[in-house]
Amino acid sequence: MGIVFKGGTIINAAETVKADVLVEGEQIVLIGANLPTKGHQVVDAKGKYLLPGGIDVHTHLALPFGGTTSSDDFETGHRAAAFGGTTTHIDFVIQPKGGTLHDGIATWRKKSQIANIDYGYHLAITDLRDEVMNEIPSLLDEGITSLKLFMAYKNVFQIDDTTLFRAMQTAADNGMIVMVHAENGDVVAELTAKLLAEGKTDPYYHAVSRPSTVEGEATGRAVALAGVANCPLYVVHMTCQEAVEQLRLGREKGFPVMGETCVQYMFITADDLKRPNYEGSKFVCSPPVRTKKDHGILWQALRDHTLQVVSTDHCPFWFEGGVNGRIPGKELGKGNFAAIPNGLPAIEDRMKIMWTFGVGEGHFDANRFVELNCTNPAKIFGMYPKKGTISVGADADIAIWDPKKRETVSAATQHMNTDYNIFEGYKLKGLPVAVWLRGQQIVDGEKYLGHNGYGKYQKRSPHAAVL
Ligand SMILES: [Zn+2]
Repeated sequence: MGIVFKGGTIINAAETVKADVLVEGEQIVLIGANLPTKGHQVVDAKGKYLLPGGIDVHTHLALPFGGTTSSDDFETGHRAAAFGGTTTHIDFVIQPKGGTLHDGIATWRKKSQIANIDYGYHLAITDLRDEVMNEIPSLLDEGITSLKLFMAYKNVFQIDDTTLFRAMQTAADNGMIVMVHAENGDVVAELTAKLLAEGKTDPYYHAVSRPSTVEGEATGRAVALAGVANCPLYVVHMTCQEAVEQLRLGREKGFPVMGETCVQYMFITADDLKRPNYEGSKFVCSPPVRTKKDHGILWQALRDHTLQVVSTDHCPFWFEGGVNGRIPGKELGKGNFAAIPNGLPAIEDRMKIMWTFGVGEGHFDANRFVELNCTNPAKIFGMYPKKGTISVGADADIAIWDPKKRETVSAATQHMNTDYNIFEGYKLKGLPVAVWLRGQQIVDGEKYLGHNGYGKYQKRSPHAAVL
């Protein structure tokens, strides 16, 4: 017995088509008009859209950071993702200092045993010694095709240009992609020390310590190095005009360079960091949230294909950590903006927010929405066409979207494991109401049907598309 999704409208990146979908086992086996239903379970999708399950390629679940740990793990974060229509994500394995890349993978495998949705790993390299450079090609055996390097976080993760360039050459030789956190960490360190010495310690000064020009400079440098190394580059969490301009310039030159932005960078501004009673700390992430003008630049870049993906950089912390037995949270940075745990919750909200405001307000159409949130992430990171599309042979990862359903965002009703929501009070229209992952229903309205251990590790293929 299979499942027939009856009477819905399929939205893929390339087309919108009214058709039925037959799922058998974990896969989509047939798509067509008026499919017979005899012997199958029928899901009535009349008046609804069928979208590929979302893919969030930038998350940090159960990440030890800044004296605490991000508050969503592979159970709570996955449940929240599922309610938001996301069925696959890629988390960042962090190489431990002094350890090997495989030491990091072993740690993440343990954390992932409770996985509810499908997942993959990027490898964030923090200590690129010669033997670690030699270890890189063996990541392909683990299905890891993407390396992350940091141009910021001086004396912690930051690498110099020689190291970055060598990593790019090694990646290019092996069909891998390099991801960079592009901010000039040397300048950030100088500005941070100066501001703190002047007694400027409130959350707002976190943004002042990391100006957009510093992001633009590092982006331009990474783009240039990728051009020389002929290495596919993916700039994570791009926030501002200066960075987008550098990426656009590189693409015009024909360099294999791409970029993502995250949902928060199109809505939150640095003024939110000035909210009273330390509430500004809720919005502290790196790079920082910018200005309304930058929001417009990002929407345009998503529309004109300068940017390829919308992700979240989901890395939640409690606002009132340490309360009710919780692990520490944002309060760690009271009196010192540099000690605020960096990151915010968004894995549940990404698709819902982007539908309401991206499609609903005419920034792009529903097909581009699918491309940015599902298809391009799968293509760039070597999971297409198994993931990211409703096609014959693909995994049956399907979100039924009700274009009429409304909801007001609230921390009180969210599934993310934290005590606030950066989109509190936003009014949404067009929401996922039922979600399947590899042929198993995991969300039915308010009911959660997923379970620990169902989520499957995704081995990804090298030599993926450069879009
Ligand atoms: Zn991140």
